[in-house]
Amino acid sequence: MSNTPAVTTPLAFDVARIRADFPILGLTVAGKPLVYLDNAASSQMPQPVIDRLVRYQTTEHANIHRAVHYLSETATTAYEAARARLQRFINAREAREVIFTSGTTEGINLVMHGWGRKNINAGDEIILTVLEHHSNIVPWQMLALEKGATIRVVPINDAGELLLDQYEALFNERTRLVSVGHVSNALGSINPVRQMIALAHARGVPVLVDGAQAVPHLAVDVRDLDCDFYAFSGHKMCGPTGIGILYGRAALLESMQPFKGGGDMIHTVTFEKTTYAPIPNKFEAGTPPIAAAIGLGAAVDYLCNIGMPAIAAHEHELLRYATEHLNALPGVRLIGTAQDKAAVLSFAVQGIHPHDVGTLLNQEGVAVRTGHHCAQPLMARLGVVATSRASFAFYNTLADVDALVAGIRSVQKVFA
Ligand SMILES: *Cc1c(COP(=O)(O)O)cnc(C)c1O
Repeated sequence: MSNTPAVTTPLAFDVARIRADFPILGLTVAGKPLVYLDNAASSQMPQPVIDRLVRYQTTEHANIHRAVHYLSETATTAYEAARARLQRFINAREAREVIFTSGTTEGINLVMHGWGRKNINAGDEIILTVLEHHSNIVPWQMLALEKGATIRVVPINDAGELLLDQYEALFNERTRLVSVGHVSNALGSINPVRQMIALAHARGVPVLVDGAQAVPHLAVDVRDLDCDFYAFSGHKMCGPTGIGILYGRAALLESMQPFKGGGDMIHTVTFEKTTYAPIPNKFEAGTPPIAAAIGLGAAVDYLCNIGMPAIAAHEHELLRYATEHLNALPGVRLIGTAQDKAAVLSFAVQGIHPHDVGTLLNQEGVAVRTGHHCAQPLMARLGVVATSRASFAFYNTLADVDALVAGIRSVQKVFA
């Protein structure tokens, strides 16, 4: 796959040293060492990010922008420096193309309100895929209902891979937008978004990428992808909750309506007329989560110090090892066997409800997620109501996978 480096660098990647940065990984649960395999829902925070938050709250906090006093200038500088870090991290052309949001969900809703309501009309069509998270379905459904637009859905094969020929066949003169996940949170499939974007652009259609599950695991370059919008969340990449990023092409963002009105997003206000601030401020109404934005900047520094290629290589090895060992377990079926996958392993244990699998694994200290993973249309396509899902971060180890495998065996014994 294009985003995974061909060589692994085990010497450069010292997982024990990395784990020492994450205080929470030292917890015991049910008297067992915590094995945290729920990273696709939220990842943990390393000490340097925690320290950065403490430093901000201890010595730098005030409201940003517009004030002349010391603390406000310090906070503003730190906030804008975080934006610049995020810009470099995803290789955006300009910092003003990087909008702070509360997360992926808000980023997609921003595009729906700011771009969609202006550009999508009755009879128009929006292309999604059956793999999407509810965050990348429901906003478009709301818009389609409001406007009388139609949603078209790209299908998958049984491995969980998008069918590109069917994707191409969905385009027509009414297609206005493609919105697609980069990596499936439920199956781990890495979608061929670069190719999908090129196919859409050849037809003049813009593309939003939901990158919530890609940014923590792969080196993402929005210029190389050539996407029009790219949304992701801080809390899935070792940053705080309540913060995320929407990348958008400057020209598109400038053409859009603001999503929320209020302070900080205006140029001038009278009761007759308001003019808006330039991007990115136009989309950052009100006091933003300043501390969280700065914490996300620190998380990016932390990831960059390790290096996204090294992270991807280590996680690829975890996935390979886990796939091999779960495949070897009688009565266990992997759900999602795409050729290109990242960090997610969904599975079913024969005769045992996923909820029971999760509950019993918890008694072994192993944290997995069970349920529909906010992807009910995908579950319906796969003919299941739920799966058990182990999801990896770069701080996980082969021993964590061994604990998962041993845990599944003991679950099976309970039900034998
Ligand atoms: C988690 C997730 C979202 C939603 O992210 P929030 O942080 O809850 O806004 C959207 N899409 C995918 C693929 C996700 O994994």
